Amino acid sequence: MEVEKYIVKICEKIKKFKDKGYIIGFVPTMGALHEGHLSLIRQSKKENDITIASIFVNPIQFNNKEDLRNYPRPLTIDLEMLRGESCDLVFLPDEKEIYPEPSNRSFNFEGLDSVMEGKHRPGHFNGVAIIVSRLFEIIKPDNAYFGEKDYQQLMIIKYMVAQIKLPINIISCAIIREFDGLAMSSRNTLLLPNDRKNAGIIRQMLLKAKEMSQNTSYIKIKEMIISEINKIPNFKVEYFEIADRTTLKVIDNESRIKEAIGFIAVYAGKVRLIDNIKI
Ligand code: AMP
Repeated sequence: MEVEKYIVKICEKIKKFKDKGYIIGFVPTMGALHEGHLSLIRQSKKENDITIASIFVNPIQFNNKEDLRNYPRPLTIDLEMLRGESCDLVFLPDEKEIYPEPSNRSFNFEGLDSVMEGKHRPGHFNGVAIIVSRLFEIIKPDNAYFGEKDYQQLMIIKYMVAQIKLPINIISCAIIREFDGLAMSSRNTLLLPNDRKNAGIIRQMLLKAKEMSQNTSYIKIKEMIISEINKIPNFKVEYFEIADRTTLKVIDNESRIKEAIGFIAVYAGKVRLIDNIKI
């Protein structure tokens, strides 16, 4: 496995791959890798000649300075994990390499970013789109892999790629979970022991919402989920919304649709966790 920090150097390597006609798969990450990330790497390995991962904690997608400061950065372990998966190349730029000057690029996501994560984390998705489009320009992958854990992000990236007409297939990968159903996340290691013990409730409540959706209005489901999770000491639901799977329009009336997803964000102490479920 090769590791490259500089754009010029990685572009040279990628050009050689392209000249040989190799198909390139790309997995962008912010590091602190876990089985969720590795599942993306494994899928890319299966479907491409070359798999490239990137590790870059993107400051401009953090709307909370403390979250950025506390974000785990176990680089040596990350590189070991990628080596263990036979990842071919890792792009490890620093901030100056990616942003020699501040980017003020602004994207229009036609409302996909006005709900849920976009509503509660102003500027987050613009920051994500800036870094992902920058990485796409550098890596020029054929296929890029994203987890359904960040479902709204996945939809926004698909939209961005279509909007700026990039010839890249965006491939969505299923959510990988801990033994108790908690969606794997780099932030899980920051949970206090008791909060970690209780965190399985998020998945349990999402499953309950799915079951209830057969015969209960979305409004009642929402009330139930929020009140049950808020009963757990230290837990506070930031939002629970049921939205259309494609448009991400929140359904806030009595109607029910076939293609819905339940989206949740919960604070467990200071740690913010997100998850979702097809309903
Ligand atoms: P991050 O490092 O959090 O930016 O995540 C990098 C990629 O891994 C994104 O496409 C995430 O959606 C994906 N990912 C993170 N956690 C999981 C998970 N539990 N299951 C599947 N994919 C995940």
